[in-house]
Amino acid sequence: MKTSGVSDVSRRHFISASLGASAVMLAPRRLFAGETGIVPTMIQAASQAKIEVNRLRRNIAVLEGSGGNIAVLTGKDGKLFIDAGFAVSKPRISPALDSLSAEPITRLINTHWHVDHTDGNAWFQAEGAAITAHENTKKHLSTSTRVDDWSYTFPPAPPAALPATIFYDALSLRHNDTALALQYYGPAHTDSDISVVFEEADVIHVGDTWWNGFYPFIDYSTGGGIDGMIRATKRNLTVVTDKTIIIPGHGPVGNKTGLSEYYDMLVAIRSNVSRLKKQGKSLAETIGEKPTAAHDAKWGQFLMTPAIFTKLVYAGV
Ligand SMILES: [Zn+2]
Repeated sequence: MKTSGVSDVSRRHFISASLGASAVMLAPRRLFAGETGIVPTMIQAASQAKIEVNRLRRNIAVLEGSGGNIAVLTGKDGKLFIDAGFAVSKPRISPALDSLSAEPITRLINTHWHVDHTDGNAWFQAEGAAITAHENTKKHLSTSTRVDDWSYTFPPAPPAALPATIFYDALSLRHNDTALALQYYGPAHTDSDISVVFEEADVIHVGDTWWNGFYPFIDYSTGGGIDGMIRATKRNLTVVTDKTIIIPGHGPVGNKTGLSEYYDMLVAIRSNVSRLKKQGKSLAETIGEKPTAAHDAKWGQFLMTPAIFTKLVYAGV
């Protein structure tokens, strides 16, 4: 997806927009008027979106409406979060949190480095959250990072937004009488994706390895690929049961049946695109053959159109 004119908007500006309500009202208009592209579009959507609170099981809830889905674990040790959404959502996230419980914010885990999951890191850390993430999340946040398919270069995040604790393969935590298992996928949607399991509640956050109901974005610029997405989804299917609540990176909270359908879609489209590419067809010719057609009504109605998703698969087969 090639868009233009968005590459110089600073991550710091996004974070400064969280300083007060007036800044929140002004910043999107001032910074993004006339600009197109997925990053400003996502921020603009988040700046207006209502935050929906969805209580799941035990002391776990999910907040929807600020970029990626945010999981919250409440209890005596303070609130623990999986992902931080966009900073512009703070004025709506804070009251949503107050409606859940009175404890302070004490921990944040990032599922991967993307802005729609980490832009709120600085304000969460300022409120008292210790941030944990995969080593590559810290790496990408620490430096200027280009996402070609977003036509966007992110400047280094401020030190206050960086994870204080990093790991590579796996990490176990205990918080609010809950065992949490963090596990690296290997290259999937990016090279920084992790899953987080809430053991007793049988709830898993799978980050952006699953977009429930939509073709997923795959970030080849930072190590993602279609084969990694398929591998990650296969692993997700092996660790969940019919009773597991699955929190996707985007889209509604789901279950194993929905995840299986997503897996079948990924495998089928990969197969179609691979066959066409092996026949020597160019990207444009492959898109023209509509290799996603059988799935478009169900999966192709959001940001990732059939043509964009075909391009993302073509790049990896
Ligand atoms: Zn992502």
